[in-house]
Amino acid sequence: MPVILITNDDGYFSEGIRALRDALSDLGRVVVVAPDRNLSGVGHSLTFTEPLRMRRIDEDFYAVIGGTPADCIHLGYYVLLDGKKPDIVCSGINQGPNLGEDITYSGTVSGAMEGRILGIPSLAFSVFGVENILWKDVSDVAKDIVKHVIEKGLPEDTYLNVNIPNLRRDDIKGVRITRQGKRNYKEKVFKYTDPYGKPLYWIAAQQFAWDSEENTDYWAVANGYVSVTPLHIDMTNYKAMETIRFLEEI
Ligand code: MN
Repeated sequence: MPVILITNDDGYFSEGIRALRDALSDLGRVVVVAPDRNLSGVGHSLTFTEPLRMRRIDEDFYAVIGGTPADCIHLGYYVLLDGKKPDIVCSGINQGPNLGEDITYSGTVSGAMEGRILGIPSLAFSVFGVENILWKDVSDVAKDIVKHVIEKGLPEDTYLNVNIPNLRRDDIKGVRITRQGKRNYKEKVFKYTDPYGKPLYWIAAQQFAWDSEENTDYWAVANGYVSVTPLHIDMTNYKAMETIRFLEEI
């Protein structure tokens, strides 16, 4: 029976992680280990300077106090599974998409990245929608994808960023293999005044505006397809190696 290790960045209490757990429990033993709070935007942070505690919520369901998604995968693998590799790591389902440059901030994607670094086939799941999420439909799609990945495996150094439209199962047009897109908005910095008269700041995303070139992640979900983008750990820009060779002349 496959062992499936799940984390997220929205916190163990989120609807998305419970929907994913319920859906994947048809496929094998599901072990959930997730942050105790919403850590959206935490990226691939690993906690080196503080101790961590795990709290059991339910059978095979744990929260890590103060832990990040990468911490959770670490503790899931080395503590809960006693160093025995799970067959697959899944992160999500994030409430909101992870597209374009946002994947570099994403704790959801970083949970899968950590799984891949540990040598496990890994997937990140997000839903393209923020409210009134059709969790049953969306998690059924995730289950189908996980089932196929367990059967066929993934190439070395590859993990998947999956974004699912917030649509009824029958209204989803299919799956598209996509490339990482680009977004056209920037976060805005809001300035406020604290009760002592000192300034404080809040960085917040304003609106979704994306480059919608065909075969990008955004294009797929905006057109009713499930977007699957293969990512890799090696961030080297191989094409640029020759163009910056002049630095070797110094
Ligand atoms: Mn999140």
